[in-house]
Amino acid sequence: MTCCRHRFLCFVGVSKVLLALCFGSNAASIEPAQTLSPTGPTGWNHQATDNFQVWAPCSISAGDVAKLLERGLERQRALWHADEDPQSWQPKCVVVVHDNVSDYRRAISSLRDTSVGTSTYAVKKGQIVSRRIDLRCDANSWTTDALPHELTHLVLADVFKMRPLPRWVDEGLAVLAESSAKQLRRGAELARAVAARATIPLPELLALEGPYASPRRDVFYSQSASLAAYLVQRSGAPDFCEFVRQSEKHGHDAALKSVYGIDDAGHLERLWAGDVLARQPLSRQLKLLAADR
Ligand SMILES: [Zn+2]
Repeated sequence: MTCCRHRFLCFVGVSKVLLALCFGSNAASIEPAQTLSPTGPTGWNHQATDNFQVWAPCSISAGDVAKLLERGLERQRALWHADEDPQSWQPKCVVVVHDNVSDYRRAISSLRDTSVGTSTYAVKKGQIVSRRIDLRCDANSWTTDALPHELTHLVLADVFKMRPLPRWVDEGLAVLAESSAKQLRRGAELARAVAARATIPLPELLALEGPYASPRRDVFYSQSASLAAYLVQRSGAPDFCEFVRQSEKHGHDAALKSVYGIDDAGHLERLWAGDVLARQPLSRQLKLLAADR
């Protein structure tokens, strides 16, 4: 299954330090503030909105992509209560749609990358100073899968000031923004993993800091989404956000006890697994936040 890349750059003084890469791919040093010229290269069309600067090849309407992005941003902000200070993103998020994998790989400086979307943001003195999304329009369902997935990473960077956000939270919530069709496939993967007793132990999943290596990467994505959905459905998005924030300060076991009354990660694993097994079909759990639900 294709996947995404997500990374952020932290600017310390004048030097750049790469702190996180989605899958541990080669540590490319792309400049996230890189922009195309206002007139753009020949064969491109451009659309500026309140929050985005979209560049797309002529076969794709930049205006249509910009509408999807603005609609998705509004929805995600409302969902995660990030709308208390609804100022436009400044500078605007640069979004570049590539019509072939070669151009995409060149733009993200990763010549063997297998992803279909990349989101990047840079932080300076605690503030996000640039955002960028690169997308491949030769990928299936890129407007309903890769686009909302990458956008979610950038919204979560606003909601949570944690750098980086725990991997399972970041990817789990991004998966939950993908289309229902994609989540059906994720649900099937999770069902196979549960049946084969091949899921990732929750203490390991919750503590994961770096990229999850193949061959269990797909399980990591579907399990992270399922766990996030379980907790959000248990008592709502605000409690989930509080749990994530308390986890950073006090550890996930203390946060589970404080927010959910759950003893520890092992107790959560039993509750979650029981919930997964009780649901028919499994995919129903994963459709909580889908953009097309
Ligand atoms: Zn991702």
